[in-house]
Amino acid sequence: MFTKPLLVLSLSAALSGGVFAQDFRQHDAHVHGHVELNIAQDGHDLLIEVTAPGADVVGFEHPPETDQERQSLNRALEILEQANGLFNLTAQANCQLEEAHITHSLDGEKHHTDQHHHEHEHHHDHDHDHDHQHGEFNAQYHYHCENISDLRHIDSQWFKLFPSTEKMSVNLLTDTVQTALALTPKQTRISL
Ligand SMILES: [Zn+2]
Repeated sequence: MFTKPLLVLSLSAALSGGVFAQDFRQHDAHVHGHVELNIAQDGHDLLIEVTAPGADVVGFEHPPETDQERQSLNRALEILEQANGLFNLTAQANCQLEEAHITHSLDGEKHHTDQHHHEHEHHHDHDHDHDHQHGEFNAQYHYHCENISDLRHIDSQWFKLFPSTEKMSVNLLTDTVQTALALTPKQTRISL
């Protein structure tokens, strides 16, 4: 299903958008307790993408309404921005995080269309999709690994940080491996 040209396209597109996610993901509603993890390696580049239900990350999936919910959201975003706390990569591989991109859809709008076209008067058809009850988080991490051949393991700390998650489904695509596997709180290591 995957070919090298596709991966290269996906990697570059992922840095400017969410195309990578669309290659892997099905567009059904997510399952609470179930996080998706996509890992792609191409040459010295390593891309890790996490898609997680809001329920797993902050315990709610609507726009934050209380101070407590706002604090939970801010804390979660801080955690997600610290990729080093989420994933431990083999040190010898000398992987440096080059870019982290975190988004969420708790506000119920996947696309922030806050451009109000005032010239088209009063045409506020507010189709603010109320069917988007399942807000979720998406995090993309782009590493450059000096010694990529020494990258043996990726250890996920996700379950410690977000204990509501029971399972991570992993799609793994490297120069040598193309596979899918599952992580649980008792099995948090991805071997490359
Ligand atoms: Zn949900």
